[in-house]
Amino acid sequence: MDHVINLKCTICGAEYGANEVAYVCPKHGDDGNLDVQYDYDVIASHISRESLAANPDSTIWRYKPLIAVEPDSPVPPLHVGGTPLYTAPRLAALLGLKHVWVKDDGVNPTASFKDRASAIAVVKAREVGAEIITTASTGNAAAAMAGLAASIGLPAVIFVPKTAPPAKIAQHLIYGARVLLVDGTYDMAVELTLQVAKEFGWYNRSTGYNPYMTEGKKTAALEICEQLGWQAPDRIFVPVGDGCIIGGIHKGLKDLMALGWIDHMPKIMGIQAAGSSALVDAWERGLQGWEMTPQPAETIADSISAGLPRDRNKALAAVRETAGSYLRVSDQEILNAIPVVARNTGVFSEPAAATAYAGLVKAVEQGLVASDERIVVLLTGSGLKDIRSAMQTVSTPPIVAPNLEAVKAVMSQQA
Ligand SMILES: *Cc1c(COP(=O)(O)O)cnc(C)c1O
Ligand SMILES: [Zn+2]
Repeated sequence: MDHVINLKCTICGAEYGANEVAYVCPKHGDDGNLDVQYDYDVIASHISRESLAANPDSTIWRYKPLIAVEPDSPVPPLHVGGTPLYTAPRLAALLGLKHVWVKDDGVNPTASFKDRASAIAVVKAREVGAEIITTASTGNAAAAMAGLAASIGLPAVIFVPKTAPPAKIAQHLIYGARVLLVDGTYDMAVELTLQVAKEFGWYNRSTGYNPYMTEGKKTAALEICEQLGWQAPDRIFVPVGDGCIIGGIHKGLKDLMALGWIDHMPKIMGIQAAGSSALVDAWERGLQGWEMTPQPAETIADSISAGLPRDRNKALAAVRETAGSYLRVSDQEILNAIPVVARNTGVFSEPAAATAYAGLVKAVEQGLVASDERIVVLLTGSGLKDIRSAMQTVSTPPIVAPNLEAVKAVMSQQA
């Protein structure tokens, strides 16, 4: 990996060779998240905006020279990334805005943004010769890992809270992963997975521990800017749990600034559920990630329920360094957003994904957004992941006898 300089601790700045440490800064134990540092001259000798324009590969691997994997590492066959960025004029009009886009990451192979990171994880696992890959997850990361691992025949063991939505657990099982339902919170599953992976020598994909997950998640930022003709947006709304996606978006944008491919840094808006808003609190109080302590986490948006966000250092830097904001939205606001987004864009979001749009509504209410700003809302997962929550937002349809008269009677009532 001659394009990778080293791995830098997000707490103390210590730098390590990529072969020297596997996951975290030894001085800071499991909290010492590392950030991959690149040699942008080497990258620029392998990839350019022009070479990308001529590249027919629409997966995340079109950006392979910008990702910390060996250039000749085989990549999994599933089509990860290359997700659509839709203009959303009706959503924009609802809010009095001029330019809103939604990025539909629910169309990834396992129906969430997590495929971007899991695709990198299985490549890294193979690079180090791991025989088993494992992760803790609220559900989507494990579904993504199970699917990507299945695509290359790598055995997977996953730890999810027993309360995970059934559709997600179905994915884990159908892809053939070994599933252990943890009798506890997501945060407990994370701690358990750290212990288990060390004990058995399994490759650990867990978010905010494995430094390479950021590098997969950043591909969404690369895509957004490329899809907008390298005219970076002004603001990007990101739903935040552990903070790996938001850190990844920031990383991708920093890469593009370093390469000179975009001319300004978008403001990054981190949106959390009010019941799981440790990062909003830390941002408001001016805390550093390493000063944060575990908090209770309870929200209908299961994918962003995290009491001690694992990627908190990168997550706080993303908002602070781009002059963005952290905002909290209630579970009711999240639920309300699901049908609004669906009816005005055709994209059906799970609660965590709709949280990004609920955050845009809040930002407009608070006067944080100018009407002519170019805004991207990241829709991170499909609504089919959590039907129970979606059904709370709609009324029960009438049951009709199978004849024309009955239909006429119902239609006249509803007119
Ligand atoms: C994981 C996830 C998020 C949040 O990502 P973090 O990296 O944990 O902040 C948001 N939406 C969906 C659908 C997710 O699966
Ligand atoms: Zn350190």
